[in-house]
Amino acid sequence: MSTEGEYDCIVIGAGVQGSFTAHELVKKKQRTLLLEQFILPHTRGSSHGQTRIIRKAYELDFYTQLMHESYEMWAQLESESGVKLQTGLLVLGPEDSHSYQMFKSTLQKNKIPSVALTPDNFNQHIPHFNLTEGDEAVVDIKAGVLFADRALRTAQRQFEKLGGIIRDKEKVIDIKPGPVVTVSTTAGVYQAKSVVITAGPWANKLLAHTGLQLPLQVTKINVCYWKEKVPGSYSVNKRFPSFLQLDSKETMDHIYGLPSQEYPGLMKICLHTGSPTDPDQRDKQTDRSDIDILRRYITRCIPGLHPEPAVVESCMYTVTPDSHFVLDCHPEHRNIVIGAGFSGHGFKFGPIIGKLLSELSLGQVPSFDLSPFRIRRFQGQTKSAL
Ligand SMILES: Cc1cc2nc3c(=O)[nH]c(=O)nc-3n(C[C@H](O)[C@H](O)[C@H](O)COP(=O)(O)OP(=O)(O)OC[C@H]3O[C@@H](n4cnc5c(N)ncnc54)[C@H](O)[C@@H]3O)c2cc1C
Repeated sequence: MSTEGEYDCIVIGAGVQGSFTAHELVKKKQRTLLLEQFILPHTRGSSHGQTRIIRKAYELDFYTQLMHESYEMWAQLESESGVKLQTGLLVLGPEDSHSYQMFKSTLQKNKIPSVALTPDNFNQHIPHFNLTEGDEAVVDIKAGVLFADRALRTAQRQFEKLGGIIRDKEKVIDIKPGPVVTVSTTAGVYQAKSVVITAGPWANKLLAHTGLQLPLQVTKINVCYWKEKVPGSYSVNKRFPSFLQLDSKETMDHIYGLPSQEYPGLMKICLHTGSPTDPDQRDKQTDRSDIDILRRYITRCIPGLHPEPAVVESCMYTVTPDSHFVLDCHPEHRNIVIGAGFSGHGFKFGPIIGKLLSELSLGQVPSFDLSPFRIRRFQGQTKSAL
C-alpha cells in the first residue's frame, strides 16, 4: 500500500476526546487527520448517548480546577448549538463519610456556588425523594447535563469546517513509531510528525503496536432508564436535578441519575461501575447484578419510579487503578501522545482534554499541571507489549 497522506498530526479514535483534540489541533493550523474504525456516528465506544452530567463537584481540587476552563470552552461551543442544560447536581452521602466530606470541602474551597439542604427543608426542594437518615445533601448549582451526541457532532463539524479530515470506517491496524510516525489502516497508510491515541476501550489494543500496555480495565455499563409512576414527577421541566449518591446502604459505588427528558417519562439512573469486558465482545457480558442494586436503591429512595428498568442500553468505561486519567507522551516515543483511562467521568472534560493533548502533541508545556495523569504513577504496572 502506498502512503496516502502526510499530516502534522493523526488522531486515532473519534470519541469525545479524539474529536476535541483534533479540533484543537486544526485551530492551531495543524494539518490533522482523525481516524475512526466505525461509521460515524456509532454506539460501540464510550461517548455515545444523549446525556452526560457536567459538574464541578469533585472529591479532588484538580478536577474542579480543570472544570473551570472546561465550562468556558463548553460555553463557546454553546454558541454553535445547544449542548448544555443547567439542572444542578444534588450530592448525597452520609454525614460521616470521608468521600462526602471531600466533595463538600472541594466545593467550599473553590467557591463553587452551592446550597446545603437540611433534612427539614430537603423535600421542599427535592420532592418524591427519600433522604436517607444520617445523609446530608449539597447542590452544585451550576452543574447540569451535556447533550453528548449533539456535542460530539458539533466538535466534529467544527473540525471539518476548519479543514480537518475525518476518515471513518478505517480501523488502525498498525503504528510504526519514529521521527515520522506511520499509521496503517484497513484502507491506507498515513504519516505524521505526531500521533494522538484516543481509542477509549481499545487503547491497549493500539498501544500494543508501540510496545506499551497500561493497567486499564474495560467494563460494560448497563445504562438504565426507569419509568415515572406519575409522568413528569422527576422531569427537567419540574426542575428536578441530576444527582450523585455516595456510600448508600446498597453499595459503596456511586449511583447517579439524570432528570427525565431524553426519553419522556424515563429517568436515567446507573451504577458507576460494571463488569469486565473485551470491547469487541461487549454484548457477551450479561452481568446484571448492578441492576439489582439499583432496584433496591430506587425502591427505598425514589419511590415515584417503577423499580424495574424500562430501557437498558450499553456503554463502556476504561478504568485506571486510581480512576485518574492518562494524559501523557509515550515513555519511549515522545511524538506519540496518549489520552486514555477516562474511568467513566471524562466527557465533561472533553474540550480541555483536547487542548491539553494538542499541547503535548506539539511539544508545548501543558497549560495545566499534568502530574496526576502521568504514566509514571503506574510504575511496575505497565508492561512491554513486545
Ligand atoms: C454509561 C456512561 C455514563 C457516563 N457518564 C458520564 C458523565 O455523566 N459525565 C462525564 O463526564 N463522563 C461520563 N462518562 C464517561 C465518558 O463518556 C467517557 O469518559 C468518554 O466518552 C471517553 O471518551 P473517549 O474518546 O476516551 O472514548 P470513546 O468514546 O470510546 O472513543 C474512542 C474511539 O476510538 C475508536 N477506535 C478504537 N480503536 C480504533 C482503531 N484501531 N482505529 C480507529 N479507531 C479506533 C473507537 O471506535 C471509538 O470511537 C460516562 C460513560 C458511560 C459509558
